[in-house]
Amino acid sequence: MLERKKFGISTISIHGEIKDKSYRSVVYPIYQTSTFAVEKSDDYQRFIDETEDFYIYSRYGNPTVREVERKLALLENTDDAILFSSGMSAITTTILSFVKAGDEILSLRSIYGVTYRFFRDHLANFGIKVNFVEIDEVDDLENFLTEKTKLIYFETPVNPTTRIVDIQKIINIARKNNLLTIIDNTFATPVNQNPFDLGVDIILHSATKYLSGHSDLILGCVMSSEEKIKKIRSVKNVMGGNPDPHQAFLLSRSLKTLEIRVKKQNENAQKLAEFLAEHKKVKKVFYPGLNSHPEHEIAKLQMKGFGGMLAFEIDGGLERAKKFCDSLKIALNATSLGSVETLVSIPVLTSHIRMSQDELEKAGISESMVRVSVGIENIEDLIWDFEQALDKI
Ligand SMILES: *Cc1c(COP(=O)(O)O)cnc(C)c1O
Repeated sequence: MLERKKFGISTISIHGEIKDKSYRSVVYPIYQTSTFAVEKSDDYQRFIDETEDFYIYSRYGNPTVREVERKLALLENTDDAILFSSGMSAITTTILSFVKAGDEILSLRSIYGVTYRFFRDHLANFGIKVNFVEIDEVDDLENFLTEKTKLIYFETPVNPTTRIVDIQKIINIARKNNLLTIIDNTFATPVNQNPFDLGVDIILHSATKYLSGHSDLILGCVMSSEEKIKKIRSVKNVMGGNPDPHQAFLLSRSLKTLEIRVKKQNENAQKLAEFLAEHKKVKKVFYPGLNSHPEHEIAKLQMKGFGGMLAFEIDGGLERAKKFCDSLKIALNATSLGSVETLVSIPVLTSHIRMSQDELEKAGISESMVRVSVGIENIEDLIWDFEQALDKI
């Protein structure tokens, strides 16, 4: 097993796999099975004793899934990882592993829409209260803590404004108050940001996005210390958010190109952001790699790359934003992100459709805002596409 501290992301994601002992196949096999036969009836005891590499039923564990879990842990530099059937399954299972009725969670309000709904609408049914803070209130985070607060939950960069949360500030407050910290690191990826190295306890991803990177599967994962992963795994075994071995194989394959994909996405996003910032029909561009970004300096400190997500406001209203998106010839108008193809979406019509005017204002989202997940196409072609679509409005 390769050590993350010693080797780079691509080396790890290509060579960090468990080797197939049976036939020395270069690629780890897909164990497409729900169950595993024991040699002797007494063997079940071995599973209960938690012996490594011993499988009895695929909800509890599967070798192909395990192979990618090991690799995911290496990428975020944690002890261990769990693969889930979706990002939401990873999020809900992880949260429910650490809170009980009467506890409270402190969360940034600007988080993935469905996570927000889980926090606001569903956790209340279990007697768990979530207190939300705005990104500009992070400096005063301590004022929002109560005796019952158990954990702090956040994302950075924030969707869709790409605002940056100062991870160190959150860690300092969490450590002082003995709170667990959980970050959704989907937007940044392990290539651009390593929260575990900065002191965050638990890292979550929608592996549907950059980690898989080809818009062809739904998966999620969580990375953390051995002790915390053990706890979450025992809850997962009951809740049943286990992934399919074939999808796990596809993810393992995708991880081999994670670094080159994300580096190209960073590069393309920077160039597209610079092009848009100069365009007369564009009012404002939101990208952490621009000097005009409010947290450009924090991004430089805590990130290794500025990411492939950007947003911009078109001069005009929703109709012009729609006309722009409908005029693109290469980029696709679709929800989701992180894939090899460039995707655009209008947040008020997609990710933020259920939000009130007040919530939209607090999140800094306007009607004419277009979010872009920049792909790995040739940048000249993307700029050509955006230019011709802007010409049409
Ligand atoms: C997509 C997404 C999720 C949810 O993941 P699924 O794989 O769709 O369940 C969670 N967090 C962020 C930041 C996302 O973009």
